[in-house]
Amino acid sequence: MATTKFISERNLRFLLYEVFDLESLTDHPYYQEYNRKMFDMVLDAAVKLSKDLMWPILEEMDQNPPQLVDGRVKVHPSVRKIMQECGEGGWIAAGFEEEIDGQQLPILFISACRFIFMAANYSAGIYPELTAGAARLITSFGSKELIEAYVPNMLNGNWQGTMAMTEPQAGSYLADITSTAYPTDDGYYRIKGQKIFISAGDHDGVDNVVHLMLAKIEGAPAGVKGISLFVVPKLIPGAEDRLVPNDVTVFFSPMNCQKFTDWLRG
Ligand SMILES: Cc1cc2nc3c(=O)[nH]c(=O)nc-3n(C[C@H](O)[C@H](O)[C@H](O)COP(=O)(O)OP(=O)(O)OC[C@H]3O[C@@H](n4cnc5c(N)ncnc54)[C@H](O)[C@@H]3O)c2cc1C
Repeated sequence: MATTKFISERNLRFLLYEVFDLESLTDHPYYQEYNRKMFDMVLDAAVKLSKDLMWPILEEMDQNPPQLVDGRVKVHPSVRKIMQECGEGGWIAAGFEEEIDGQQLPILFISACRFIFMAANYSAGIYPELTAGAARLITSFGSKELIEAYVPNMLNGNWQGTMAMTEPQAGSYLADITSTAYPTDDGYYRIKGQKIFISAGDHDGVDNVVHLMLAKIEGAPAGVKGISLFVVPKLIPGAEDRLVPNDVTVFFSPMNCQKFTDWLRG
């Protein structure tokens, strides 16, 4: 079995089949469509995608970090291709149910595919993974309307998903967040606040960014009990697929970062 520069496929298959007994999951009705041959085919596809798309741009992405241009974050052009490939190839939807066009693959197996992507190029692989996580949060706790409005475009790679928790004064201790949600008579909230460190918080590799954002509803109790979770899109989906700006803005906060590939070279 061939090894790549960034992973040992032999070790990965040993872990999946011999240590964790992945195939035993196919005894469950939910996974009965799968067998070892299919798992192997999907693993091969994950390695191919990583080798063809993610690994070759590792250094280039690292040496050309995102730029804030006219209020929009410009990322490496390959990010759009990666989001599209991961959407069309079913990678973002890998763990979702068939009813919403998911692949219904076991999380154990998806973790192995994620490991391959992340080993090839963490900075590239994280865009689809964050989207899958945010979409999962909406399908688990959101209303039917929220699921219909946001999840399909996240799973097909057109829209990015994020987790917007951290604020300048609230990191580990999220009870300190001050972002506030004001109810309106129309059933939605107006939210005011500032978030920092939001991975994929804005970029031009997608057509919209959907933030899963922590805020406190006006008058909510102090501490963690008062925290609520909101879907805050950069652009609000309107009639006839129109996207309307939602007053979400991004600004630059300088940080002293060392490029990863410089660090690797010592
Ligand atoms: C690469 C990266 C990506 C990120 N992506 C996101 C994202 O997508 N979305 C998002 O919301 N946030 C994101 N974050 C922010 C991240 O969640 C916060 O950095 C983290 O929660 C810690 O908060 P802080 O940086 O304010 O540190 P602080 O909370 O100020 O902690 C500073 C130090 O104090 C220690 N400390 C804190 N509290 C205690 C305590 N009670 N007892 C003992 N020690 C303590 C911590 O361990 C740490 O060493 C990202 C951060 C990084 C670095």
